[in-house]
Amino acid sequence: MPDFLKAELIERIDFSEDLGMFKFRVLDAERPKFVPGQYATLGLEGDDGKIIWRPYSIASSIYEEFLEFYIELVPHGKLTPKIWKMKVGDKIWLRPRIVGKFTLNPETKKHLMVCTVTGLAPFLSMIRTQKYELEMGKLKEPNKFLVIHGGSRSWELGIYKEELGELSKKVDWLIYVPTVSRPWEDTNWKGETGRVDELVRKYADNHGFTYEDTTGYACGNPDMIKNVKDILKRAKFPENRIKEEKYY
Ligand SMILES: Cc1cc2nc3c(=O)[nH]c(=O)nc-3n(C[C@H](O)[C@H](O)[C@H](O)COP(=O)(O)OP(=O)(O)OC[C@H]3O[C@@H](n4cnc5c(N)ncnc54)[C@H](O)[C@@H]3O)c2cc1C
Repeated sequence: MPDFLKAELIERIDFSEDLGMFKFRVLDAERPKFVPGQYATLGLEGDDGKIIWRPYSIASSIYEEFLEFYIELVPHGKLTPKIWKMKVGDKIWLRPRIVGKFTLNPETKKHLMVCTVTGLAPFLSMIRTQKYELEMGKLKEPNKFLVIHGGSRSWELGIYKEELGELSKKVDWLIYVPTVSRPWEDTNWKGETGRVDELVRKYADNHGFTYEDTTGYACGNPDMIKNVKDILKRAKFPENRIKEEKYY
C-alpha cells in the first residue's frame, strides 16, 4: 500500500464564504474502501514543505466512485485556508487508510442523528448508502433515520437541505429536520428554528425514537455533543447506544 494517494478536485460548490462541498477523484489507484460514517485524512503541503494532515468525514456513499466532503473554513486554521484556494483540477494528498468508529450500530434499526452544519457528512454517507442498497435490492428492511441538522442560517446547510428534504418526501424511512438558530439573519426561512439540542427531545418523542429501540448519534461541535449526550442520558438511552464524533 502506498504511503499517500493523490486525489484531484473534480467539483466544488461554495454554500457561503466559509462552507462548501468538495468532491475528489482518487488518481492512479482505486478509491480506498470504507464503511459509511468513517473519515479520510486529507493533506496539503505547508509553507515549510511538510504536509498538513486533517481528518474529514466522508459524505459520499460507498457506491460512489468519488469522495465528497462538506467542509468549513477555519480562517486562522492551518489546512482549511489552503483547501479554500483549491480550484477544480488541483490535487490533494489522501491517506490510503480510511478509519473511524462512528458507523451505524447494527443492533438497532432506528437511528437518531443530531449534527451541526458539516457534522451531517457521516450521516449523508449512511443515508445515501442505504438508498442505493434498497434500489439494488441488497437491503430488505431499511433502517429508520431521524436527522436533526442545524446551522446558524439555512444556506449553511447547503445543497444537502434540498437533497435530504426531497428524499424524505419520497421514502418512509427518513425524517429530516433542518433548523436555523439565527432566524433574524435569515428572514425568508420558513422551517424549524432553534439549536439542534433544543429540538432533540421534541422530535425524538414525537416520532418514537426512544431509548427502547434507538441509537443516538451526535456529530460536529463539541458543546452541542455534550448537550445532546446529556439529554439522551436523561431520556434513558444506555451509554452503549450513544455515539459521538467531535470535530475539534
Ligand atoms: C473525526 C473527524 C472528522 C472531521 N470531519 C470534518 C468534516 O467533515 N468537515 C469539516 O469541516 N471538519 C471536519 N473535521 C475537523 C477538521 O479535521 C479540522 O480540524 C478543521 O478543518 C480545521 O482544520 P485547520 O487545519 O484549518 O485548523 P487548525 O489549524 O487545525 O485549527 C485552528 C483552531 O481552530 C479550532 N477549530 C477547528 N475546527 C473548527 C471549527 N469547525 N470551528 C471552530 N473552531 C475550529 C481548532 O480546535 C484550533 O484551535 C473533523 C475532525 C475530526 C476529528
